[in-house]
This record gives sequence, structure tokens and C-alpha cells, in this order.
Amino acid sequence: MPAHNADIARIFRNVAEYLEINGANAFRVRAYENAARTVESMARDVADMVAADEDLSGLPGIGEDLAKKIREIVDTGSLPLLEKLRAENPPGLLELLRVEGLGPKRVGILREKLGVESLDDLRKAVDSGAVRDLEGFGEKSEAKIGRALSALEKGRVTHEMSRMRLDEAEGFALPLLDHIRAVEGVVRAEPAGSLRRRKETVGDLDMVAVCDDPEKGPARVMDAFAAYDRVEEVVSKGETRATVRLRNGPSADLRVVPAESFGAALHYLTGSKAHNVRLRGMAEDQGCKVNEYGVFRGEERVAGETEEDLYAFFGMDFIPPELREDTGELEAARKHRLPALVTLADMRGDLHAHTDASDGRAGLEEMAEAARSRGYDYLAITDHSQAVTVAHGLDADRLAALIDAVDRVNDGLSGITLLKGCEVDILEDGSLDLPDSILKRLDLTVCSVHSRFGLPRDAQTERIVRAMDNPHFTILGHPTGRLIGKREPYAVNMERVIAAAAERGVFLELNAHPERLDLDDRHCRAAKEAGVLVAVSTDAHSPGGLDTMRFGLGQARRGWLEAKDVLNTRSLRELKKLLKR
Ligand SMILES: [Zn+2]
Ligand SMILES: [Zn+2]
Repeated sequence: MPAHNADIARIFRNVAEYLEINGANAFRVRAYENAARTVESMARDVADMVAADEDLSGLPGIGEDLAKKIREIVDTGSLPLLEKLRAENPPGLLELLRVEGLGPKRVGILREKLGVESLDDLRKAVDSGAVRDLEGFGEKSEAKIGRALSALEKGRVTHEMSRMRLDEAEGFALPLLDHIRAVEGVVRAEPAGSLRRRKETVGDLDMVAVCDDPEKGPARVMDAFAAYDRVEEVVSKGETRATVRLRNGPSADLRVVPAESFGAALHYLTGSKAHNVRLRGMAEDQGCKVNEYGVFRGEERVAGETEEDLYAFFGMDFIPPELREDTGELEAARKHRLPALVTLADMRGDLHAHTDASDGRAGLEEMAEAARSRGYDYLAITDHSQAVTVAHGLDADRLAALIDAVDRVNDGLSGITLLKGCEVDILEDGSLDLPDSILKRLDLTVCSVHSRFGLPRDAQTERIVRAMDNPHFTILGHPTGRLIGKREPYAVNMERVIAAAAERGVFLELNAHPERLDLDDRHCRAAKEAGVLVAVSTDAHSPGGLDTMRFGLGQARRGWLEAKDVLNTRSLRELKKLLKR
């Protein structure tokens, strides 16, 4: 089994966790954590770099020693150091980290002082009331651990495993924010956390509110929050901060802060953790402190009312939340070289949509009207090809009829142009599912893999690259086939796919459906670096489906894409030029 970047990262992270629980040197712990993050955020497969005998020690945070360890993992699938740590430590130890609120440090203390080495041990310690007496814990935190433990025991697994899709999280957060904004005295209420960073999955919801009545306002907000009709359980409720669990949904955490701290609080709660840690380090270098209340020099608050002034204090431009992952954005902000990220207003059309000619629900006119009303200049009609029988895919004759129908409808339209397209299956041997004689009549194709996801990596890569050789290939649809929370990406060498697209002048799709978001952010960035334009498309199967564009743009922005990096920000004229191969 080839080791994927995620596998290598997990091994390093586990090493860091074991080391930290056992009180190892903080620099050593940090080194493994940083290595995990570096590997995780890479678009290239590290295994390929090893195979090509490339030097790994130049990667951020990877020195000689870690480079050697990466090679060991790639060659053998495991790391002797981790095996050793596993053997030395009790089997249930890392499971303790799944309890919300328990990091390696606290697990280390629980183990040293109370002999806690498994979830069962922890349950006993909590029930006996021994945890509250530990230094740095107390009664409140014992109760909190008890609740998190119950949640785990009931199978409501916390952390990574309970993360929900961005659109689902938004479905919980937006109405709740409206509820908070309606409270008397509330001036603003904003989402923070990974929802604001537009991550593809979200754990808990974090929210910040400001109230213009510092005396009585916060209490009113807390009461209204706890009384929200979708709250199942009020986990905690203080004067300015409360946590609730929503029915069949996530936990939500709300803080009410004074107006002068709003920017700092929003920044702090937006994260990511890695971004915040780096910024705190930079602040310390300047003899300052950043926390959720502001930027301080000694006792004096010097910034933090807005995020803009917070960044400006450090000589930086405002960093959009989507970029806050410590992957170069802080340095870029300092040099005033942040990308001008693509926005919805930049989008001139959508290049992947279905109609009732295959598995969509609306006709040509209705889809055209839906696109026009969203301010677009064009919409590509890309119904399925014949291989997708469940979607009532089109054979050559039915596609010919659809092409004629699009021409007729276009004659009667103003302000919007339908483009003639097809979502053509890439067959197992890399050929396209319809003959060239019909494909050549189209403005564009979206070529997709819908079958044989289990092919070995080389074969899958070869299949896609061969398809790109077809002169009628335009855009690679949902390039890795992942379905978030349901299906892993198929094994494919994306580095090769991106290079092949660059050589042939074809494009990659970022499928905006919140279940796909495929290309992901790392591959968007790699495509940009290779000069491959990305089509952000909704794959709409109904008029309303066109609205998922915002999710795709969130991922595109996380991938540092600017309007110029996105194919469908082009005018119809420019687009048509680009579509000619
Ligand atoms: Zn598809
Ligand atoms: Zn589709």
C-alpha cells in the first residue's frame, strides 16, 4: 500500500501526541506536529517525491531526520519510532484525546497523578470526583470532561468524526445568528471558526456578538441563546459566554464581547489554531501580546477593535478568513502580496448543469432563466452521456437532438447564452463515451469518471491523462471523485493530472456541490501554480442548484484562487477563445 500524505501526517501526529503525553521536550513535540501539517497541506504526494528520489529536507519543517523518517514510512508503511511508542504505552492512551477538551498535556497529568490510561479509567476518575482536585482542572472542568465522555460513550463521537458538511453547518448557524441579531441591543453577531474559514467540514459552531448595552445586554443575549427553539441542551451558561447543543446538530458556542474587543475576539475564534499560534509568536517578538481581548503592549490595548486594525498593527494587510491556515498567508500579508481572492461578483457563468434531458429536474428555458436571474452571461448545459444509464444518459442521437434544442432556445433568449455541452464519461480505457462526430458539435465537454473508482493509482491516472488526449476534452469534472463523509477520493496522481492538463491546455473543475468540493483547496493551489485554469461549477440539477456556487468559491478562495485563475470569470467572448484547443 502506498502511503498517502494523510497517512504520513497521522503517524507524525500520533508520535507528537505520545511524546507530549509523556512530557517530552516541547520543541521535539512541535517538530512532529509541524511535519504533520506540512505533509498534510501538500498538493503533491510525498510518496512520489520519494519515488523520484527528490530531496525532502527542503520542505518547511522537514530536516534531515524527518526526511529520513518519511522515506521509512513510504517504504515500509510504518515508522519504528511510533511502533516503539505504541509498545511502551498502554493501548487506550491516545483514545483519551478523543474526549473533547482533553489535549495531550492534560492526558499526561491525568495519567501521572491518577493513573488514567483508558476511557474506562477516566470514567472512574470523573465519577469518584478525583479530577477536580488536580491542578489546573477544578470542578467545572471535571463536569465538562464528564459530559464529553458521556457523549463519546453514547456514540456521539466528538472531534473529527462528528464534523458535518459546510452546508449542513451553515443550515444550523444562519438561523441561529438571525435569532441572536434580533435580540434587543445586539449590534452585530458573526460566525467564526471553520465555518467562517469555509472549511469543507465544520465541528462546533463558534459565534461572536456585540451588544450596545454593556450593563444588561449580555444577560439578555445569553437568555435568548439558551431559549432558542432548536436547543436540546444548555451545556453551560455564563455572563458573557454560553454553549448549547442543537437538536440533531452541533454544539454552538456564543460569546458577547465589548465593541472594542470585537475584532480580536472574532480573530481569535476564527482560527485556525496554527494561524493564531504563528501570529502570537510574531507579537511576542515585538514585545506584544495577542488574545481574544485585543493586542496589548503591557497593560495598554493597542489594537483589536477590528480585524483590520489588528493585522495593520503588525504591518499586515487584512487576511481573508479562508487563507488563515498558516500556509504562507502571514508572510504574504506582510509583503502586501496577498491574492485578491475570487468573489461571486466575478463569476460570469456556470459550466456544469443538468436538465431533464438526463437526470436534472428542469428544462432548458427554466435553467437559462435561473442563470440569467443570477446575473450570469452564460450557462453550459452538460447532461450525462450514455454510460450513466441510471441518470438516463444521452446517446449520440439524443445528444444531437439536445444540441438542436439548445440552438432553438438560444434564438429566443436575451441576456443569457446556453452553451452546448455534455458531461461525458471517461471509460475505463481512457476513451470518451461518445464519438468525436457528435462531440465536435459541442462548445465544451465536462469529462468525468463515474465508474471503476477502485482502479490502481497508476491505471486511474493513465485513464484520465489518456482522456485528456482527446481533442474534444475540455474540463475534467470532479477530479478525484470524493464525496465528503461518504467516499474517499479515488487513488490518482493529481500532480500528474495537473501537469497533463497544463501541457494540453485543458481545465480542471472545482465542483461546487458541498458534498464534493472537488478539487480541494490544496489542488486548487497546485493548479494555479501550474497555470491551469479552474472552472468553478455547480453541477446543478435544478434551478436552485446554481446557488451552491458560494461553497465552491469558498474552497477556491481557500486555494488562493483569484478571478484570473478561474475559467468562468471570463466574458463569453474570451471564454469561447479559451475553449478552442
Ligand atoms: Zn458527474
Ligand atoms: Zn454532473
